[in-house]
Amino acid sequence: MSGSEQGFAIVAHGGVGSPREYDDGCERAVQRGVEELGISGDALEAAIAAVAEMEDDGRFNAGSGSVLCLDGSTVEMDASIMDTRGRLGAVACVQGIRNPVLLARAVAETPHWLLAGDGATRFAAAIGHPVHDRISERQREAHRKLLKELAGSVPAMPGVSNHAFLRYWNYQTPATLPESAACDTVGAVVRAADGHFGVACSTGGSAPSLLGRVGDTPIIGSGFFAGPHGAIAATGIGEHIVRHMLARTVYGWIENGMPLEQALKRGVDLFPNEVVVGLIGVTKTEAASHGNRDMPHARIVQA
Ligand code: ASP
Repeated sequence: MSGSEQGFAIVAHGGVGSPREYDDGCERAVQRGVEELGISGDALEAAIAAVAEMEDDGRFNAGSGSVLCLDGSTVEMDASIMDTRGRLGAVACVQGIRNPVLLARAVAETPHWLLAGDGATRFAAAIGHPVHDRISERQREAHRKLLKELAGSVPAMPGVSNHAFLRYWNYQTPATLPESAACDTVGAVVRAADGHFGVACSTGGSAPSLLGRVGDTPIIGSGFFAGPHGAIAATGIGEHIVRHMLARTVYGWIENGMPLEQALKRGVDLFPNEVVVGLIGVTKTEAASHGNRDMPHARIVQA
């Protein structure tokens, strides 16, 4: 950290593949982040505030907008936070709560860095985290669309036969044949005026998926990374992103002096075009986003 005061920067994304009409949600998120910087001056708190805003938006696949699992009733969510003060926390497959990103921050205060499944959900109850179990008509409609896609011959997840989800079905209720892949994450990266970096991410996961599926979002170095040279967040198909440990790989390039925009592009170019991927990042002097599809995003930089 530089220790000396400088300008701040914040970038937020609403998930690669989501329409640019949702830019307004990302703009509200970065404004929330800036407000938080004005209150605490803390990069991580600003990133968390931005992500929580998008979790509450209802249009993004995170928090209250999370996709339904194939059984049409379960919602499993992942989230993560990390900063250059040593805070690191994540949750995976947590159910029935309003803001997974706030739970990820709470995990960072326990002896652990990642809580998953029932343990994460019970931890949320133990600390009095707000419950959220209402399913919106928007979520139901997305689920109906997905089932139709799975019934078709075009793979809903690139490279994976639609039949695989039926063959390995592990939900409690029997499979009703479901049909387009949905994935999306929200994320924010922040450089505070004190030179610290923070990152926060949250997702309802990808669809279609088996019960218990975890993507890149709560996995350090894959979906997110922050270090003294910057912070990076990824969005896209987690099964592909983890194979490249994408966030840490891109961070390594900026650490070695590559300009941020070039590093983000190089990261996205690691993937074939049918694999949707997007990245956002901040460094000591830069703030940028890049994806191989449209990606709602917003950025505020104060020199
Ligand atoms: N990366 C998320 C996941 O695989 C989804 C996304 O970012 O679109 O869970």
